[in-house]
Amino acid sequence: MQRQPLVIANWKMNGSRSLVEKMTVELREHDEVLDRISVVICPPAVLLPAWQDAVFYDHVHLGAQDISEHASGAHTGEHSLSLLTEAGVDYVLIGHSERRQYYGEDEERIRAKVQAALSFNEKPVTVVLCVGETASQRQQEQTYAVVEQQLQSALDGVSEQQSKQIVIAYEPVWAIGTGQTASPELAQQVHGFIRQWLTKKFRVSGSRMHILYGGSLKADNAEALFAEADIDGGLIGGASLDPEEFLAICSAAQ
Ligand code: PEP
Repeated sequence: MQRQPLVIANWKMNGSRSLVEKMTVELREHDEVLDRISVVICPPAVLLPAWQDAVFYDHVHLGAQDISEHASGAHTGEHSLSLLTEAGVDYVLIGHSERRQYYGEDEERIRAKVQAALSFNEKPVTVVLCVGETASQRQQEQTYAVVEQQLQSALDGVSEQQSKQIVIAYEPVWAIGTGQTASPELAQQVHGFIRQWLTKKFRVSGSRMHILYGGSLKADNAEALFAEADIDGGLIGGASLDPEEFLAICSAAQ
């Protein structure tokens, strides 16, 4: 891992105020780990204020699990960037496979969200763009084509300067929440492909961008995954709900 490691917790629709407290205690007790990596917590939006009170280190940031592409208005249930950044958010997940699969997010909407985040001028936010193939796409040997198409579409019109605000999360859909982690070799093959693509599009900036792995990443497989050249950290779902396990993953990233 050549870039400063980045570990992101995606709590999805889980957690509670009491978990925020437990996690905070764990992070405080092991604050030496936080000196060498960046940590982002993406709780459900209603828990952002609880986290905002608890965040105490420069290296712990808050993230949103999704954003609206609209600035304000009649969009019941949605959260604008203005609202989210007021609640302390610096990072936004865009295009998570659960949003693509269950909430009908298509490439056009994902591109609109990326553009909304990059043109938001109240506060700089970092976009974590999630890409990855399904099991059947992998079986049909379409992994690279799918990932390339997702990158091409979401990052259409993004400049070299704006690429500094983008992190890519490679999350094979078949690995998310299934316990079926991609092997380090397999993950590195796709990360290497993404790195090449980014470097071609954004030149030097592409070589500096973070590419995270996500999909059943746990304390016992983190070290081997993080040892790969183009795996710069992880996007963690289930294992980020257990403070000790999450800390162990952060330690493995150091
Ligand atoms: C995720 O939802 O981004 C994820 C990687 O989940 P899990 O770690 O539970 O597979």
